[in-house]
Amino acid sequence: FQPILPVDDDLLEKVFITVKTTGRNHLTRLPVIIRTWFQLAKKQTWFFTDTNDQHLSQVTGGHVINTNCSATHSRRALCCKMSVELDVFLETKKKWFCHVDDDNYVNVPALDELLKMYNPIGDWYLGRTSTPKPLQIRAKSQKTTFWFATGGAGFCLSRALVLKMAPISGNGKLMAIGDRIGLPDDVSVGYVIEHLLKIQLTRVEQFHSHLEPMRLIKKDLFNEQLTFSYSLDNEPNTVDVDGFNEITDPTRFLSLHCFLFPEASSCVEKLKI
Ligand code: UDP
Ligand code: MN
Repeated sequence: FQPILPVDDDLLEKVFITVKTTGRNHLTRLPVIIRTWFQLAKKQTWFFTDTNDQHLSQVTGGHVINTNCSATHSRRALCCKMSVELDVFLETKKKWFCHVDDDNYVNVPALDELLKMYNPIGDWYLGRTSTPKPLQIRAKSQKTTFWFATGGAGFCLSRALVLKMAPISGNGKLMAIGDRIGLPDDVSVGYVIEHLLKIQLTRVEQFHSHLEPMRLIKKDLFNEQLTFSYSLDNEPNTVDVDGFNEITDPTRFLSLHCFLFPEASSCVEKLKI
């Protein structure tokens, strides 16, 4: 358990965290992120979007990048954003690239611990699969299979690996790859790494997307998990955690944050009541 509130400067200084978002999610999904885990990794985290937003820029200390990719859920638009995320990462001096969606909660100290276990000089593709079998595709009339890390659970790549990807998928070329295999951004990343570069995904089960039932994650293991997610569709899928009521905290991220960091400023008030 993490009783002491981490100071963002000490954690994850080598990491570049990208949050993929879109204009219409700025006011619905981003506020809870900005109130919670973003506060622990303000310097490391950047929002990649498709719309100019003065307010977002102000509340994130200017950590917003307008990719100029189209604001649609199309494969092309998503590959376009991922491609910009990777290109911008290479312009930094950071050792690790970690991508998450705007419905992810990142457990900042746990991510820091994970990355300390791997040397970024090596080629590392760290993430969680969400298919029971590797993906099978037909490329040049040959069947090939490969694994990919689910983008919606978050995944991390070492700088060495992103540098190897650059001649193949850098500078916007990830879009062409997505077009060629007709698959989404996270699958395209897996295709480049596993199929083209022959580097294997290292499975890290502590990344979580809303493709899994969030309520199955046990409270006593929350602090070891790297990411969480939610979906509020017809059948809500959220982390099972006590705290704020469902109206104040429909995503459960505020409650989760206060469970992990009881002395965070947004939690202290609650504890006093
Ligand atoms: N997204 C986007 N453009 C869109 C729709 C979604 O960039 O037009 C992003 C969204 O912000 C999120 C990710 O894509 O980070 C996945 O979207 P969502 O959670 O809505 O759908 P899912 O694929 O998880 O069902
Ligand atoms: Mn989602």
